[in-house]
Amino acid sequence: MAEQQSVTPADCDVFVVGGGPAGASAAAVLAQAGLHVVLADKDKHPRFHIGESLLPHNLPLLDRLGVRDQIETSGMRKHGIEFVSPYHGKSVRYDFGHALDKRFPYSFQVRRSSFDEVLLRNAAAKGAEVLEECRVSNITFSNPGDPVVTANMAGETRQWRARFVIDASGRETFLASQLGVKERNPHNNSAAVYGHFTNARRLEGRDEGHITIVWFDHGWFWFIPLSDGTTSVGAVCPAEVFKNRDADIESFFRTLIASSPEMADRLGGAILQGEVTATGNYSYYAKRLTGDRFLLAGDAAAFLDPVFSTGVYLAMLSGFWAAEAVQGCLTRPAKTVKLLHRYEVRTRAAAAAFTWFIYRIRQPAMRNLFMSPRNMFRVEEAVLALLAGGIFDGWRVQARLYIFRMIYYVTKFSHLRFRFSKDPRRNVGGIRAVGS
Ligand SMILES: Cc1cc2nc3c(=O)[nH]c(=O)nc-3n(C[C@H](O)[C@H](O)[C@H](O)COP(=O)(O)OP(=O)(O)OC[C@H]3O[C@@H](n4cnc5c(N)ncnc54)[C@H](O)[C@@H]3O)c2cc1C
Repeated sequence: MAEQQSVTPADCDVFVVGGGPAGASAAAVLAQAGLHVVLADKDKHPRFHIGESLLPHNLPLLDRLGVRDQIETSGMRKHGIEFVSPYHGKSVRYDFGHALDKRFPYSFQVRRSSFDEVLLRNAAAKGAEVLEECRVSNITFSNPGDPVVTANMAGETRQWRARFVIDASGRETFLASQLGVKERNPHNNSAAVYGHFTNARRLEGRDEGHITIVWFDHGWFWFIPLSDGTTSVGAVCPAEVFKNRDADIESFFRTLIASSPEMADRLGGAILQGEVTATGNYSYYAKRLTGDRFLLAGDAAAFLDPVFSTGVYLAMLSGFWAAEAVQGCLTRPAKTVKLLHRYEVRTRAAAAAFTWFIYRIRQPAMRNLFMSPRNMFRVEEAVLALLAGGIFDGWRVQARLYIFRMIYYVTKFSHLRFRFSKDPRRNVGGIRAVGS
């Protein structure tokens, strides 16, 4: 404490906690606008991060930052999504080129270490002061007076007086935890376990870069092919499945893989690279995203579920919106309340566009719809537009998504009828009990 009091705070306009996609995007935009931005990340980049599959709508954001060329050369082109269901005995592929909005036909699978480093170096090139291996330990808010950020860097305590703070600390949820506003999401109590493999059997040709989602009795797998020949594989299951495990994490992961004939086949000759990792405390949200001279962006604000690869897109989007709101607050203080309210509303709305689908992805009725694509009223094209990240595609998409929801409820209702049917063949798409 005595050490902290002896520090003379330096001044800056905006202090950004965290240099992932949210923080680096916000810092780049604000620095380019001429503000004095300090960004601190506790790690030295490049650093490992999970979350390697991007959405087509990430690309316009990369264009706005001026870094798309760098990702084009290193990323694996992702033209679509493949769903594999053992309950239907088949796989179905969706191509982003067939979405209602045809302007975004592909995206990328990326190594997050190099992707995040590109974004971070870009923020520095735009004029942000980027400090690595600098861990923020405290932020004090007083009124009147600017927030004071305390961080530790190379064993020394440093402080900044900032006119505004953006918390983009990811799943560390620095400010939401400090302020006590972090809530577990009751709709999605899952956990993930993942590793990287060489020599996995991939799709061939143009579809090689597809993300594959494989359902199995405990949840679903992701299978993400990277351009260096490595494939990222992860399993997402209810948290109880993890709690009841009686083996070390690698053996547990291998048991899950063995329980899925599709994954066992794809990884039959594959070699695990490095360690297997598990992520708990999965899905959460902050009860408030903004306050007096601060806001939360990216995973620091909320984390959904990776099934539709929305994390990096939503993080970058909120980084852009955060920059817009903060710049407005600093230049037009009288509009602060309105600007922060707008930020909060649109950030929550962006996440909400995906949650209805995410919460139902393990439901037999949803699986049946994804496994039996039908483009009646161009509904399939609208769902694809959403899966590409087209959350602002207007009424043409929204109206069709509404029809999709109606079809879902009708399908679900018919499943309920079949569940009580005496004929077991009619109980289509039913999931077997865990461990059966
Ligand atoms: C299992 C799993 C699979 C996923 N798969 C996908 C996927 O396929 N596609 C996708 O788009 N998303 C995926 N995601 C989500 C994605 O990883 C995140 O949404 C995304 O990284 C969020 O970006 P961010 O900038 O908000 O946070 P992060 O990328 O986590 O960046 C936060 C940064 O803050 C730094 N930091 C933290 N605390 C401090 C501190 N106190 N001081 C200084 N720095 C600090 C960290 O070092 C880090 O660099 C997945 C997530 C999980 C858990």
